[in-house]
Amino acid sequence: MITTAIPITVKKTAKSRIAELDEANLGFGKIFSDHMFIADYRDGQWTEASITPYDKLPFSPSSSMMHYGQSIFEGMKAYRAEDGKVLLFRPLANQKRLNISAVRMAMPTIPEELFMDGLLQLLKMDSNWVPKGEGASLYIRPFLIATDEYIGVKPSDTYKFLIITSPVGKYYNEPVKVLVETNYIRAVEGGVGFVKASGNYGRSLYPTKLAQQKGYQQVIWTDARHHRYLEESGTMNVMFVLDDVLVTPPLGDTILAGITRDSVLTIARDWGMKVEERKISVDEIIDAHKNNTLKEAFGTGTAATIAPICLIGYEGVDYPLPALTDASFSRRVGKELDGIRKGHIADRHGWTLAV
Ligand SMILES: *Cc1c(COP(=O)(O)O)cnc(C)c1O
Repeated sequence: MITTAIPITVKKTAKSRIAELDEANLGFGKIFSDHMFIADYRDGQWTEASITPYDKLPFSPSSSMMHYGQSIFEGMKAYRAEDGKVLLFRPLANQKRLNISAVRMAMPTIPEELFMDGLLQLLKMDSNWVPKGEGASLYIRPFLIATDEYIGVKPSDTYKFLIITSPVGKYYNEPVKVLVETNYIRAVEGGVGFVKASGNYGRSLYPTKLAQQKGYQQVIWTDARHHRYLEESGTMNVMFVLDDVLVTPPLGDTILAGITRDSVLTIARDWGMKVEERKISVDEIIDAHKNNTLKEAFGTGTAATIAPICLIGYEGVDYPLPALTDASFSRRVGKELDGIRKGHIADRHGWTLAV
């Protein structure tokens, strides 16, 4: 039995679209399951919560999230285990992080029970949308938006919290070419780089487009002050293997505290690997490349888990990385994480939650 402080009213779809689901051609983020969760905030509290058929939302053109960007989100996944169970990976970490984003954006926080009850009830209803194929999963997008019909600048008084889900296919981990970005920036000290605010993504698109025109897939962001220290790879945290040490930038207000990042660091420590969370300058990486101590570079995030980097471009020079083998840390940790998430590798840290 699910109990909640706010009762969730349920309106089932009259006609499920599940028969149209082609598990062989899922792609990423274009197909949505039958239902969505939606909760309303007004008069200083969360009021109605419901699960309804996935559908368009009615919005006034003056809705404040469209004008001033009070819009935050999360990204997480549910997996189909071999025994058919549906497993979530560290959902409470997403709930906590959504609230960190909410506070920074002057938005109301989401109580744990509202988040978890909405999520679990939605996933129970749409559990047949969790795909079975290798590498496939149900991507879950919780998000919070400001809905006041008012174009004065102030925090909205009304909000909607929604959860939508999308079956997604295997993410091809083709190694990516990345360009160290030394003009545009993603985040500044005192800014919102540590939260999942929609605007962080909007601002990243143009520099990324320019990098793509030069033949790279992504940028590696550098610090706003000196363009000297590496921060993140696109919308993923970035990690390096230098000799046999795993190195990643420390958390702070310009770095998003990735749940994949934390999971990778935890597994590396479990394996007895030396881990360093510290500033990494571009010069250090270029020197390590020259000395052959730069073994691996990769991004970490929920969508791809591990995105290996095969080449780093910096000031007109391309620095290729060694080819990966099955002994490479990034491959091994990617396999380990996928195994834990699908329930066939021991979950020593209590990361998975059965729906
Ligand atoms: C979401 C996100 C990540 C990855 O976080 P995960 O919890 O691992 O998915 C990293 N960097 C940025 C900027 C992000 O928005």
